[in-house]
Amino acid sequence: MDEPAYTDLHWGMFVPAIKGQGTDEQQNEWLSLAYKMKIIGCYAQTELGHGSNVQGLETMATFDRQTDGFVIHSPTLTSSKWWPGGLGKVSTHAVVYARLITDGGDHGVHRFIVQLRNLEDHTPLPGITVGDIGMKFGNGAYNTMDNIVLIFEHLCIPGNQMLMWVSQVTREAKYKQSDVPR
Ligand SMILES: Cc1cc2nc3c(=O)[nH]c(=O)nc-3n(C[C@H](O)[C@H](O)[C@H](O)COP(=O)(O)OP(=O)(O)OC[C@H]3O[C@@H](n4cnc5c(N)ncnc54)[C@H](O)[C@@H]3O)c2cc1C
Repeated sequence: MDEPAYTDLHWGMFVPAIKGQGTDEQQNEWLSLAYKMKIIGCYAQTELGHGSNVQGLETMATFDRQTDGFVIHSPTLTSSKWWPGGLGKVSTHAVVYARLITDGGDHGVHRFIVQLRNLEDHTPLPGITVGDIGMKFGNGAYNTMDNIVLIFEHLCIPGNQMLMWVSQVTREAKYKQSDVPR
């Protein structure tokens, strides 16, 4: 499939994250939607309390055996996502950086595809608080870009939405390296 030119965070961050971190199955599922812009994605890594120090991110993705899914939660004010562009108004989905938590403990920061808005009218889903951070100072301050603050409140996502090129969680909550050839 031809890929349109890079134009914004959808093409510049969301699509490459799925291509770089998703299994073949995940790429087939999500890139077919993203290439046609049936979903619009962005990149939610930075938090209010954590910029360059990615290992310090606090957003939690807790594996839930009962649903075989993850619960995404912002446990503190400093864990609120801060800056991600394109999410104040436009994006329906994000690649979210969050700590993977299982019965076995904290496995560090992993990436998850998370739907944030209703596809029909773009209203935020239950469990999502999102807003534009407003005016930014300076030349080239991207004031045309809708940079955001984003807070998760126990948002449930399916288990196959952790990007699993490198590692995965089994139904039995076992964390393991993926068997995808590298
Ligand atoms: C316009 C704009 C758009 C953005 N869009 C997005 C987006 O779409 N998605 C997203 O997730 N994030 C986005 N960000 C966030 C951006 O990635 C962060 O600003 C960046 O990661 C740096 O974090 P920080 O601003 O908290 O600075 P800090 O990490 O707090 O750094 C502050 C200062 O300390 C220095 N510093 C940091 N660590 C060290 C070190 N170990 N040794 C020496 N010096 C150090 C830095 O160079 C800097 O000068 C955006 C930011 C801006 C300004």
